[in-house]
Amino acid sequence: MLKAIYPGSFDPVTFGHLDIIRRSSKIVDRLVVGVLNNNAKMPLFSVEERVRMLEEVTKDFKNIAIVPFEGLLVDFARKLDAAFIIRGLRAITDFEYELQMSQTNHKLEPGVETMFLTTSIEYSYLSSTTVKEIAAFGGDISQFVPEVIGKALKEKMKVKRSV
Ligand code: ADP
Repeated sequence: MLKAIYPGSFDPVTFGHLDIIRRSSKIVDRLVVGVLNNNAKMPLFSVEERVRMLEEVTKDFKNIAIVPFEGLLVDFARKLDAAFIIRGLRAITDFEYELQMSQTNHKLEPGVETMFLTTSIEYSYLSSTTVKEIAAFGGDISQFVPEVIGKALKEKMKVKRSV
């Protein structure tokens, strides 16, 4: 059984992430979306919230599991017996960081390969950071994230403003 991990922060999941999930789920038998629990990154959504949101927007896919993780990605891959890691590439700016990560991971665990899917053109500009910035100023994010994520973002911004 061909199993892969698609790791990320997904803070929150966007149409760009969903595009990579949809395309990679067709290539493998089982796709594990690994949600990084790393408070040093100061995520807007807790790892539980990010997992729940991903579960909601991927519920129609049959071969996907959403699993939180912390620590080294290669340890997580080994634990799940995943043959490879999937990452999305948007632009040259992504490439440098992704190259370094994939080579480091390969040194740590030669049994795990990283595979890259290039972004679909319509999402090449899209990042969770931009979506959060637009939402913080009350802008329309309906073209960037599913409706349920848009609602969760609005709620989160309200809570943030009131503290
Ligand atoms: P990280 O914090 O690990 O960069 P992200 O949640 O930002 O996590 O992204 C997870 C993965 O999804 C990364 O490989 C990233 O390049 C990819 N990705 C993010 N946005 C897009 C997009 N719009 N199109 C394609 N890939 C994307």
